[in-house]
Amino acid sequence: MARREGKERAEMPKAKINRESIRKGLQLFSYVGSNKWKFYLGMLFLVGTGATALAFPTLIGEVLKAAEADWDQLLHWGWAILAVFVAQTIFSYFRIYLFVDVTERMLEEVRKATYSNLIRLSMSYLTQRRAGELGSRISADISQIQDTFTTNIAEFLRQFIIIIGGIILLFFTSTKLALAMLLIIPPLAILTVIFGYFVRKKSRGVQDQVADSNTIVEETLQGIHNVKAFANEYFEILRYGNSAAKVRKQAVQVGRLRAAFASFIIFGLFGGIVALIFYGAYLKQQGLMEYGDLVQFMLYTLFVGGSIGGIAEQYNQIQKTLGATDRVLELLNEPGEDVDLDSERRKEYPRFKGSFAFERVNFAYPSRPETPVLQGISFEAKAGEKIALVGQSGSGKTTISSLLLRFYEPQEGQILVDGKPIHDYELTRLRSQMAIVPQDVILFGGSIRENILYGKPEATEEEVIEAAKMANAWEFISKFPEGLEAIVGDRGIKLSGGQRQRIAIARAILKNPSILILDEATSSLDSESESLVQEALEKLMKGRTSLVIAHRLSTIRNADRILVLQNGEILESGTHEELINKDQGLYRRLNVMQSDFM
Ligand code: ADP
Ligand code: MG
Repeated sequence: MARREGKERAEMPKAKINRESIRKGLQLFSYVGSNKWKFYLGMLFLVGTGATALAFPTLIGEVLKAAEADWDQLLHWGWAILAVFVAQTIFSYFRIYLFVDVTERMLEEVRKATYSNLIRLSMSYLTQRRAGELGSRISADISQIQDTFTTNIAEFLRQFIIIIGGIILLFFTSTKLALAMLLIIPPLAILTVIFGYFVRKKSRGVQDQVADSNTIVEETLQGIHNVKAFANEYFEILRYGNSAAKVRKQAVQVGRLRAAFASFIIFGLFGGIVALIFYGAYLKQQGLMEYGDLVQFMLYTLFVGGSIGGIAEQYNQIQKTLGATDRVLELLNEPGEDVDLDSERRKEYPRFKGSFAFERVNFAYPSRPETPVLQGISFEAKAGEKIALVGQSGSGKTTISSLLLRFYEPQEGQILVDGKPIHDYELTRLRSQMAIVPQDVILFGGSIRENILYGKPEATEEEVIEAAKMANAWEFISKFPEGLEAIVGDRGIKLSGGQRQRIAIARAILKNPSILILDEATSSLDSESESLVQEALEKLMKGRTSLVIAHRLSTIRNADRILVLQNGEILESGTHEELINKDQGLYRRLNVMQSDFM
């Protein structure tokens, strides 16, 4: 994860610095809220650190001049240096502290806002963007913003102050030398930056090449069965060899470039400084300049040169941050679903009776609008009925349950619950009265108790145990030494498919929904846990309307109505008796096929 974030940071696209991007940066800054004054105070300290830094060369020059005069003078300037020193120490402390404080407050708000937006985004947005990717991109963007607000902006401004102030002070120290310096150092500093940028870009090329070679290793080891079965070792060795040779070639190219860079620095930059010192020494010899001024001058030159070199990187980072800001704001401005976050109101939603109906529903997924998935789906479930959906994989069964949960909007037709279109209900109310037990239950990493409580966070201990018992889960839970506290997931106990299924059922029992969706809830279980789960499901379905998607047809014989789906259309519908007696019926054929297998 950290590696991935690092990679994303390195590849982070930059945004141009212009009025629009700065306006966006400021929009993010508004998350600082009432703490803006701290940022401005921090700015003041920042100017203070710039000014005190600029005072150093002058003070050192003065000390050197005083060294040629008397002790009192020396002591005087010594105290002055100490005072500036102390001031800079204090300024730096508060500058950093204040900037971090403001930035972290801002980021706390931004993090909370992005997360609460992210989690409310519609399913169609999230499935199109791959939610995991979105999450890691946001975290990379936020740490980029963090660095910039705590460090890059401050460094940029400080170096800017030093460059401008330093050049002015250089002219005060010695006009002739300053003019000579301006001719030599800035062009060299700019060349260094460009050269350095070039070298870095080329080395990134090498890194990419290395990554490509590593991909070959990873791929072939993952697919080692294929490599060996096809006796293609020689081919892969050749492929990897070619890639390794490319790495070497590019790396040596970069090596040459770096060698040239080092020589350039030695010859160009140090040469320039030496030439300047030589000219300064000449001026001193001619009696046109004092020794102290010469040292002072050289120190300013180093300050200014260093800042010119450093400011480019800060600028670079600020550009990246504006890009990151843009993406974070894009997410913040993306309208999410209208979810009710008020936990008190949620408890007071009136209960549904639980009837629902589909009326001529046509649907295609937003990511593939040209492929119809459901066509003219109409059926009705009265309160308390059990409706079964059967059909081959890909026929649209899960899609029907997603539409009932309002994960997506149908393009045509409508879905009713208790006789009213589902749009007329608050989204949270609608979903709070439905529960789904899917085929692959994914539990959260916490304890079994937390996982069951997910159905009703305010449930009591008794309710949890009662639900676990009804779900046939209590028997295995009570065998764990930690009981309900046993940790599920990575570092905890391993639960079998059937056990996870029963925890999901307990969760659904606690939620006490009026409409229940079972999406192939028993299809991946062995027959022993299947009967335990099936028994628990029967209890769960009692008194509720249920939509049962079944793989094993034997489990839905007692359904009030069975809908047979094919390619998104309802081909047949009726009770088991009606359908099984239909000559040439699909349901009948499916049944024959399954009984052959079992
Ligand atoms: P079933 O549950 O009957 O196996 P689904 O309802 O999952 O079938 O899928 C029906 C069709 O919709 C399939 O062709 C599937 O490829 C497609 N599909 C399912 N989910 C998505 C999605 N999120 N985006 C695009 N197409 C999807
Ligand atoms: Mg499915």
